[in-house]
Amino acid sequence: MVKEQAEEIFIEASKEYKRLCEKNMNLVMARGVPSAEQLDLALGVLEALHARTEFSNSDGNDSRSYGVWNGIPEMREIFSDMMGVPSELIVLGNNSSLQLMFECISMGFTHGFGGNEPWCKQGNIKFLCPSPGYDRHFAITEYFGVEMITVPMTNDGPDMDMIEKLAESDEKIKGCWCVPKYSNPTGITYSDEVVKRFAKLKPAAKDFKIFWDNAYCVHTLRDTDIKLLNLYDECVKAGSENNVLFFASTSKISFPGAGVSAVGTGSVTHGELKKRFCTETIGSDKLNQLRHVLFLHDIEGVRALMQGHRKIIEPKFNLILDMLSESIGDLNIADWNNPPGGYFINLNVMNGTAKRVVELCKNAGVLLTDAGATYPYGNDPEDRNIRIAPTFPPIDELRQAAEVLCVAIKLAAAEKLLDKEAEKSA
Ligand code: PLP
Repeated sequence: MVKEQAEEIFIEASKEYKRLCEKNMNLVMARGVPSAEQLDLALGVLEALHARTEFSNSDGNDSRSYGVWNGIPEMREIFSDMMGVPSELIVLGNNSSLQLMFECISMGFTHGFGGNEPWCKQGNIKFLCPSPGYDRHFAITEYFGVEMITVPMTNDGPDMDMIEKLAESDEKIKGCWCVPKYSNPTGITYSDEVVKRFAKLKPAAKDFKIFWDNAYCVHTLRDTDIKLLNLYDECVKAGSENNVLFFASTSKISFPGAGVSAVGTGSVTHGELKKRFCTETIGSDKLNQLRHVLFLHDIEGVRALMQGHRKIIEPKFNLILDMLSESIGDLNIADWNNPPGGYFINLNVMNGTAKRVVELCKNAGVLLTDAGATYPYGNDPEDRNIRIAPTFPPIDELRQAAEVLCVAIKLAAAEKLLDKEAEKSA
């Protein structure tokens, strides 16, 4: 955008922005959650136990009672197919995989892994944080006072040269956050080479853990499912399966508030988890696991359900992508991805304008995820990344929200360029 164009766009966009503000909108395009229509797809979960008189799982245990610390075998089988980890190495939690991640980090701090000193005694623990990434991952490590090191994301996954250099030389680095498939928010899937390099990583810390959060492992948006190489298999070849904690949940398959979560790992770390989890609880919610099994049946059932989700959310993604292209596609002031799966569109606006875009949207009644949220400490060094979450709002609201977003991007870019021009001539 050249100066004359910036002036013209500033005038046009200001007028348009004023008009949109007068509509007094109150729209939310902030969090990646399923819409009510998507949640309706899983109502069968609630009906699955209705009028049932038999509650045994395949182990013969009564799912209404205590016991089965690691969750019912049939549900672990479904997760095994989703996560690529043997079912006997999977432990089921309640509705939140994030809670399991929190619990594993807590375990590192209070008891340590692999017979090493607890992290709380090791001082100045660090984590690698591929970014843009998931804000709630960063919130967990921040909560525990872990120093977070930003690692840039490429189209193949995190910058592995940097991961290797840091993890293999600094024993204070205890972990790395990863969302390997249809990543939050970039939508990319780690390449085979990246997966292999993670499996072959030789961390300086003996108690290093890769947090492999496969939250979007079955969340395909297009005809082609992008394949993620199985990290567990690669780790077995390299003898490193105890270095990884694999996570997934049904939050965006059935219900975020009442789904089932899972963590898998190698047998040694599994034994350590067992000690902790068995002390913590006599078992997770097995009736919920059972009704999920009765509803989903198996991995094919999961995939069929996810096609139903796709039908609802694909048009929403397409709407936003079309509106961005039409409105600002030629202006060279932003770029964004066309995600093949997951829950987000990753938008990069002109450097130094992301906060302003989010502010303009907010003042016009459209709530976006905070600018910077996709980086550790909420600090996007270039102030350019915005995570767009199209799944929740109804399509009409989404159209209005995207209209505001496009105008805000133009206005913020024009303001920035005109400021620069003013600085130059001052
Ligand atoms: N992991 C990622 C990458 C997510 O994007 C989300 C939700 O947005 C979660 C985990 C939350 O998972 P859960 O509901 O199982 O705690």
